[in-house]
Amino acid sequence: MSDFSALNRAHIIQKAKEEHFDLIVIGGGITGAGIALDATIRGIKTLLIEMQDFAAGTSSRSTKLVHGGLRYLKQFEFGLVAEVGKERVIVFENGPHVTRAEHMLLPLVKGGSIGSIGAYVGLYVYDLLAGVKKHEHRKILNREETLAKEPLLKKDIINGGAFYYEYRTDDARLTLEVLKEAVSRDAIALNYIKASSFIYDEKKMIKGVKAQDLITGTHYDFLSAQTVNATGPWVDELDVLDKSGQGDKLHLTKGVHIVVDHKKLPIRQSIYFDTDDRRMIFAIPREGKTYIGTTDTTYEGNIENPTLNVNDKIYLVKAINKIFPGVNLDVTDIESGWAGLRPLIKQRGKSSPSAISRKDEIFRYPSGLLTIAGGKLTGYRKMAERITNLVSKRLKTPKRIFPACTTDKIKISGGKVGGGEKFPQFVKDNISMGIDIGLSEEAARGILEKYGSNAEKLFAIIKNKSEEAKKFKLPLTLHAQIVYAIEHEMCLTPSDFFIRRTSDLYFNIDWVRNWKNEVIIFMSAYLGWTETIKNSYKEDLEKRIAEVSVAG
Ligand code: FAD
Repeated sequence: MSDFSALNRAHIIQKAKEEHFDLIVIGGGITGAGIALDATIRGIKTLLIEMQDFAAGTSSRSTKLVHGGLRYLKQFEFGLVAEVGKERVIVFENGPHVTRAEHMLLPLVKGGSIGSIGAYVGLYVYDLLAGVKKHEHRKILNREETLAKEPLLKKDIINGGAFYYEYRTDDARLTLEVLKEAVSRDAIALNYIKASSFIYDEKKMIKGVKAQDLITGTHYDFLSAQTVNATGPWVDELDVLDKSGQGDKLHLTKGVHIVVDHKKLPIRQSIYFDTDDRRMIFAIPREGKTYIGTTDTTYEGNIENPTLNVNDKIYLVKAINKIFPGVNLDVTDIESGWAGLRPLIKQRGKSSPSAISRKDEIFRYPSGLLTIAGGKLTGYRKMAERITNLVSKRLKTPKRIFPACTTDKIKISGGKVGGGEKFPQFVKDNISMGIDIGLSEEAARGILEKYGSNAEKLFAIIKNKSEEAKKFKLPLTLHAQIVYAIEHEMCLTPSDFFIRRTSDLYFNIDWVRNWKNEVIIFMSAYLGWTETIKNSYKEDLEKRIAEVSVAG
């Protein structure tokens, strides 16, 4: 059984209790996952604990772009743009099945915040700083070319446009694939385990973490030489648990996205446009839908599950109708959506959310605790490198010397497809594997594009367990996805499955409504739930569906 199988969870916890780790990482978002992978590759024995599901924090609630952040040039954040800009290609090459190149059109609007000279200079600097490949260099378009690319744009306000490349990802699956790779290399990663306090030695140095299993209620002590707080929006909460730590570092801002049917907003490529209040908004086509975001407002509510409110929805719908006047989008067209919190580091004199830097920062406390805060999904690998360098230095002895970071060359789980350029060929070459077991070409392609080099495991499930799928009245591919998620991705609840393993709650909510009962019945039987547990997971999923789908 795999070390990332939900069926094996008790055994994995037992193993973690008996181990003395070099490093405990608290937080299973992209930052923690990146650290776990880098550290494990360098030979640092690592445990990662996450109090919710992996990526249930900000790392499943972003705009899902692997991008250099063109708009940060306006704030003169050249270092940030250069670093994350260069990272785009690495993130793509490490896992082309979770990251795709994405054409982006930036319409230049009369009276807008960016003029054509500004766009030209900005994108020129962007190409330069981000080391953009020549064939992906920006193109500046005139008015006719811009309208030809996107006829839905409001014609009388368009001066021209800029056309450039970014990358789109599935943030939660990226986090999972990074973690799966770390686990396949001997890290231990556990979800639903909450760090509740630190354990100290006689010199007041942290020597471990007290944690609670939120599934069973059991408390554990995990021991380690080093501890990293990578809890995103929660870093202040964790830091004040440490006697030497300090809170009040973060300024949380909320960003929301809405999802509509692509037919309601049938844009031909991603668009990045100006709003009346000089913010920038993305509209991105994906899997038959278009998603739109994001807002950026100071947030002081419940961190665990921020939700969209009616004002957020109206703001985004209005912004769309302004630039695409013919589409007449209405709040009732919204099918789904999500809200996330940016864990920004407070800056003196800056209170406007959009003005605060997206840079990351490391805080070191006398107890040995290392805290990493801020940053972007795109820059996760470099953030992990910086923390792991520090951890390696601390762990170094004459007998233990740790190598430098190599994650720029490591393929994440599912990413062993021969490189980004060869991914389409990889899919083509392997489609017959799916067709041979009775799948349609489209279904086989879907599995290959989502799971990359792990697709063969799903094909094997389809081949060997079709009777089980029939018994539980599940389509073959859906059944294979659940079995794979349980056995290889530590999926414990129906919400884990429909939100972080498949994103169906966001991009295919009718599918969730159609299949939720069968999925719950199957998961209950497979994972041996009591009726009470089954009902509580069912309730949780219903609550999530209601949260994203109620227009109000
Ligand atoms: P999280 O993903 O929040 O992970 C922290 C984890 O710690 C959580 O899962 C939490 O449950 C866990 N935790 C907390 N306390 C404990 C505890 N006591 N014990 C155990 N676990 C605990 N970046 C980009 O590069 N591209 C984008 O397009 C982009 N768009 C964005 C749009 C929005 C609206 C937002 C909000 C952010 C966006 N970002 C984007 C930024 C990016 O999403 C974040 O920088 C990144 O996801 C943060 O990851 P993290 O791992 O630090 O935090």
